[in-house]
Amino acid sequence: MTRPFLSVENLVVHFPTPDGIVRSTDGLSYTLERGKTLGIVGESGSGKSVSSSALLGLHRGTSARVSGEIWLDGVDLLKLSDEEMRKRRGKDVAMIFQDPLSSLHPYYRVGDQIGEAYRAHHNVSKRAARIRTIEMLARVGIPQPDRRVDDYPHQFSGGMRQRVMIAMALINDPTLLIADEPTTALDVTVQAQILDLLQDLQNEFHTALILITHDLGVIAEVADDVLVMYAGRAVEYGSTRELLTRPSMPYTWGLIQSIPDVSGAVDKPLRPIPGSPPSLVNPPKGCAFFPRCPYAKLVDGTGDRCAHELPELLSITPGHLKRCHLEDPEVMYQDDTELETAR
Ligand code: SF4
Repeated sequence: MTRPFLSVENLVVHFPTPDGIVRSTDGLSYTLERGKTLGIVGESGSGKSVSSSALLGLHRGTSARVSGEIWLDGVDLLKLSDEEMRKRRGKDVAMIFQDPLSSLHPYYRVGDQIGEAYRAHHNVSKRAARIRTIEMLARVGIPQPDRRVDDYPHQFSGGMRQRVMIAMALINDPTLLIADEPTTALDVTVQAQILDLLQDLQNEFHTALILITHDLGVIAEVADDVLVMYAGRAVEYGSTRELLTRPSMPYTWGLIQSIPDVSGAVDKPLRPIPGSPPSLVNPPKGCAFFPRCPYAKLVDGTGDRCAHELPELLSITPGHLKRCHLEDPEVMYQDDTELETAR
């Protein structure tokens, strides 16, 4: 069987705690090819960052219980030894975080930090690493890179620091790049520039890109496919176009309605999703979105099915999957439907 370039299969990440097991990721599966972007979207605590950290082996050496398979270019990353994973981290798989200031060491020059990341995987002199670093800084749009290479992180603006992080992530030419909320801390103009830069570099390096965000607007800009996560599970998965124009799961619909410009309904008031995500220690027995879902009663007249039966993730059209008992998503699109949340 030929697997896609990245194939995450039935990934589970659980954390034992004194209060019980936190089920941060529960049976997650998705695929991604090189040169393509998968957007993973969901609220805080939905499992998007925890599941993606498993691709870098960041849960190794912690109390986390990780199982499933993560196939990258024919190799199951979960089967690698710690040493083998360490060699691949930063080289085959790299990550960009939301806050560059917490990822960059404040007392080291940025050029030294990027050069060190390069030398960790290449047997080259400091001088050669510095030349390569300056090239990368230029490539990510840092002006006067031969001078700025000797600056410290605090001497860069937020947007420029994120460019530095992108240079550091891409200097080893990784085949898979994970960007975790890379633009959340930036203002809108800089955010658009960083997203453009990521797309340009992805085309140039033919990288597979996972973009983690809580913002469907960002997904609409850059992702080929979208995976919507809720309470540690995939609840909807499909092409960006299909998912944004014909969402089929109420949580996805709620996310779309809570942003101003994806549906095109710019004159409508924003509707935040009521309530908050469930506990991952004692998740609801049936659909995890049931306590917040205004459509549960439309399934069987009472909402009992949603309350007690966990929906499977099923295909509704080729490539479009949803985890929801609601058969006809059209009812969600009707503004005048009389609705109230389950609780
Ligand atoms: Fe709502 Fe039921 Fe669908 Fe869950 S399964 S999202 S509660 S309609």
